[in-house]
Amino acid sequence: MQTVISPIDEQSLERAKNIISSGGLVAFPTETVYGLGADALNEEAVRLIYATKGRPSDNPLIVHVHKDFDITRLVCDIPGYARLLAEAFLPGPLTMVYKSRGVVCPAVSCGLDTLAVRVPSHDGAQRFLSYLDIPVAAPSANVSKHVSPVTARHVYDDLNGKIQLILDGGKCAGGIESTVLDCTGKVPCILRSGLITRDMVAQVAGECDEYHMAAGEKVRSPGMKYKHYSPRCKTALFKYEDRFLALDRYRECTAQGSRAVIMCDDAVAADMEDARILSLGSSESDIASNLYDKLREGEKIADIIIAVAPLKQDGVMVGVMNRLTKACG
Ligand code: AMP
Ligand code: MG
Repeated sequence: MQTVISPIDEQSLERAKNIISSGGLVAFPTETVYGLGADALNEEAVRLIYATKGRPSDNPLIVHVHKDFDITRLVCDIPGYARLLAEAFLPGPLTMVYKSRGVVCPAVSCGLDTLAVRVPSHDGAQRFLSYLDIPVAAPSANVSKHVSPVTARHVYDDLNGKIQLILDGGKCAGGIESTVLDCTGKVPCILRSGLITRDMVAQVAGECDEYHMAAGEKVRSPGMKYKHYSPRCKTALFKYEDRFLALDRYRECTAQGSRAVIMCDDAVAADMEDARILSLGSSESDIASNLYDKLREGEKIADIIIAVAPLKQDGVMVGVMNRLTKACG
């Protein structure tokens, strides 16, 4: 199968519609990462997502819809706080989990009675979803366990020959996956952290819990239990306080002849002397936006990525640290 990367225009949208309506997969940009979309009402198409990615069959998918789509067609029991949150943050990088009406096929939610719904804000995603006007099931458009893709080229590197079409909407500005918020309880509960932070949710909803799996408990967000976001080279992760140990490790690795690189923000980079740096930038949003791009760059140029955590650990950095720990921990 030949994989084509195409800008988003009338012609590529028509092609995308044909592929999706015949049960195929199309990669598309969002403001977080690239998604691998299929018709959420077509069981075989949804199964093809899992097969193409090598995704475990018990890790449910998020359904993506355009901004004018009536989500009460898909889900019910929407609490008052969820309406307020939707008004405040949608379209945007927030996925909300509700009780499912069972309209989309069971493979989307892996048989759970809930459904995760997202309304992306990326203009290209909106155009794609509006053109199709159906719910589109989509995980990140990478091979399972690899680093999520933030450019069309990243998708191509992972899925060349496996899908027909990648809609190219440039580099994703957000850079880490959406916040996943359980809206089935009295209080919203963060299942996966992201760019919409716990404080932001609490400010609108009054309260916000954060889920941490207790020992022996059945996991509420199945994706959490899997290895994720891993570059295809060795990795090491150091705390900010241990940044000089990271520099020692870099020196050891290079002395042994291995190609090492330090991935860190600009503040840490200032302490790294002449070491080779993969810079994440300075601001919180830069760090999130650059993380996956730099992990993918690192695996191409180095035998080991030595990551150093930023000093700041709250807000958006909760999501960044969650990814960094899974990638390099
Ligand atoms: P990905 O598609 O790789 O961005 O992962 C989707 C994330 O959403 C995973 O962490 C899933 O566990 C989570 N998710 C999807 N559907 C549900 C659901 N119905 N209930 C809880 N978590 C979900
Ligand atoms: Mg993913």
